[in-house]
Amino acid sequence: MSCIFCGIANGEVEAEVIGEGDRWIAFRDTNPQAPTHVLVVPREHIESLSALEESRTELAGELLRAAASMARQEGLEAGYRVVANTWSDGGQTVPHLHLHLLGGRKLRWPPG
Ligand code: 5GP
Ligand code: ZN
Repeated sequence: MSCIFCGIANGEVEAEVIGEGDRWIAFRDTNPQAPTHVLVVPREHIESLSALEESRTELAGELLRAAASMARQEGLEAGYRVVANTWSDGGQTVPHLHLHLLGGRKLRWPPG
């Protein structure tokens, strides 16, 4: 299996890492959609939000807390958005669960 985010998580693929914990890593998106665009990713390969099992409930909470922590670190006091694009209609292109943290500009709603 060759997964780009597993590669980043284990250090084989380069990324601009801005934070990490035992079970997650946060790095800048290479195609940013806002002044701050960070991906928060579990080290474990989980395909999508839909593949997150009950046994990973604690990990899910940790990922959300990591996103909030990275938002603080990025100085997003004015607000931000956390998104998990899921499967095809959700716009998911990398099949390894990730939270997008977007901020640094006024974000529109609804998204496209
Ligand atoms: P998705 O479309 O699956 O919700 O989000 C995948 C995101 O990963 C996209 O925003 C894309 O720009 C980003 N991405 C894809 N490949 C790489 C990579 O190799 N490095 C980094 N840092 N981001 C990537
Ligand atoms: Zn993976």
